[in-house]
Amino acid sequence: MLAPFAVEHSRGRRYPEPTHPYRNDFQRDRDRIIHSRAFRRLEAKTQVFTRRYSDHFRNRLTHTLEVAQISRTIAAQLGLNVDLVEALALVHDIGHPPFGHAGERALDNAMRQHGLFFDHNLHALRIVEDFELRYAAFRGLNLTFEVREGIIKHSRDYAPAQFPELTEYLLDQRPPLEAQLIDWTDELAYSTADLDDGYEAHLVTLEQINEGVPVFARFFGEVRKLYPGAAPKLQFNEVLRRILDRWVGDLIRNTQAQVEAAGLAALDDVQTYSRRLAGLSADAESERRQTKQFLYQNLYNCPSLEPEKEDGERIISDLFELWMKHPERLPTGYQEKADAEPLARVICDYIAGMTDPYIYEQYEKHCG
Ligand code: MG
Repeated sequence: MLAPFAVEHSRGRRYPEPTHPYRNDFQRDRDRIIHSRAFRRLEAKTQVFTRRYSDHFRNRLTHTLEVAQISRTIAAQLGLNVDLVEALALVHDIGHPPFGHAGERALDNAMRQHGLFFDHNLHALRIVEDFELRYAAFRGLNLTFEVREGIIKHSRDYAPAQFPELTEYLLDQRPPLEAQLIDWTDELAYSTADLDDGYEAHLVTLEQINEGVPVFARFFGEVRKLYPGAAPKLQFNEVLRRILDRWVGDLIRNTQAQVEAAGLAALDDVQTYSRRLAGLSADAESERRQTKQFLYQNLYNCPSLEPEKEDGERIISDLFELWMKHPERLPTGYQEKADAEPLARVICDYIAGMTDPYIYEQYEKHCG
């Protein structure tokens, strides 16, 4: 069933464990991720919209589940390791702080004041390697090499000279296709989902979308002919599922074609190839870029979301500075950690792990 260039087996775990009688290594990793505390907290972390808007908009957890669902479909068609892909999809956003991208920016800015920085992939690695405490024999989840490698390499390259601590992840090699896929699936999932939530939130109108998103306009014409009497939201849904289906089909076909053109016959060929091979065709990629640009201009940067983003940024930077000045007000466990690591890093880890409601509570308690 597996393609010759798929990941077949794991290189192993940091702490060797006996094999399980009826789950393979990647299925166990998937299950460990689902049972982690950090995974459960995704439910109360903002993706784009806070709870104030609606209970049925995406949060980080439901976004993650959508990425996992789409990734499984694509991986199966390409003959990739579906269990590994599912584990990678479920863990891909686990390192995100509260308040979505505004929170990420604020945390990074706060860290840069102290000569450090925040990166959600590196933070995700710290969560699964160190912060999750479930097992008596070791800290962390003891995930396979491939899942840890994918956490680091799914969305960007890290220069080996700049990140000596990541040497074990073979930074000069491309990640397996299972990991390359995740970044694309993530893009396709949120580009369609954010149009959906943005439309339901009345932040963008059908006219605006038809004007700014050509692939939408194209399918909208088709859907209106097919279902002229249908409610606008149902027409909208029909368009959206056609876009997702088109992009997913394109990603499968184009990746397959790239792999064939490159003559990849083994996993090793994927890793030593000069570039990443998963991706959309030029046409679909230009549609995706137009859609993303539309979302930035009309949704992510829209004035009505601004006050909430500013609130989030202020809460993070005020709490960060408060604990820098008064480390004695941190929970005891974090105070102890600051003996071994820079205080700013400890505060950053604490804040990054928080849900939106929890950080609001902390703000009320310390700064309110
Ligand atoms: Mg994501």
